[in-house]
Amino acid sequence: MLKDKVAVVTGASRGIGRAIALEMAKNGAKVVINYNGSVEKAEEVKKEIEANGGEAMIYQCNVSDFAACEQFIKDVVTAYGRIDILVNNAGITRDGLIMKMKEEDFDQVLDINLKGTFNTIRFVSRIMMKQRQGSIINMSSVSGVLGNIGQANYAASKAGVIGLTKSMARELAARNITVNAIAPGFIDTDMTSVLSDAVKEASVAQIPLGHFGKPEDIANVAAFLASEKGAYITGQVIHVDGGMAI
Ligand code: NAP
Repeated sequence: MLKDKVAVVTGASRGIGRAIALEMAKNGAKVVINYNGSVEKAEEVKKEIEANGGEAMIYQCNVSDFAACEQFIKDVVTAYGRIDILVNNAGITRDGLIMKMKEEDFDQVLDINLKGTFNTIRFVSRIMMKQRQGSIINMSSVSGVLGNIGQANYAASKAGVIGLTKSMARELAARNITVNAIAPGFIDTDMTSVLSDAVKEASVAQIPLGHFGKPEDIANVAAFLASEKGAYITGQVIHVDGGMAI
């Protein structure tokens, strides 16, 4: 489905990004596994891809660093010659009620989740425009759609990702580049494993399908959007949340 395509996945050392990297590789793409701090985990993802006959490289880059992203994308093009798929998955939470939220917790979440998404698109869009072909997938969240208590910073960043996605979809459509967002609900990863049992129970109660999703539930949709099968979809927010946003 993605044979000979080059896919860049940010935050692919763990969780949803890892599952996306594995799924893209399973479908034949060469995968760039971006990470920030977890070099060993990134290496493991690369090894798993190679063990299954795929091709991958790892690349350290803090996506909130504009200049580092420019170098990152340059280096990927030097290595693989093109970029067909960009998945902006890297993200963090720094939850807290607004009255207690530290300024740096607001800034850091916006810098990584929203500006990080801008940073990579800023440099990849030029390459995809030259190719007259590409697929960009940005990770939003159900919190960005519905809002969530204790997540003013995170919800704002993920709502921002939706605005960015829709604008980029309009701007890049003439060059045959699609831009979509996925809005996951609660997915079993390190990000949600820190939640208390009480919060987990309250969260499950909000999910019509009655359970958390798996990283693979998101990866399947990302691979579909990046493939020919998703070629006529752009500017959309695909909810993969067990019905939370109904
Ligand atoms: P996770 O398990 O905490 O993994 C986060 C990933 O992002 C890691 O690979 C991490 O890399 C990377 N990352 C963090 N900061 C980075 C930076 N500055 N530069 C580059 N990479 C960075 O999170 P997850 O649950 O898989 O979430 C993935 C995405 O889905 C996020 O955007 C998140 O907001 C979104 N999402 C998750 C859920 C959920 O329930 N899990 C729900 C909705 C949306 P290192 O470890 O190498 O630093």
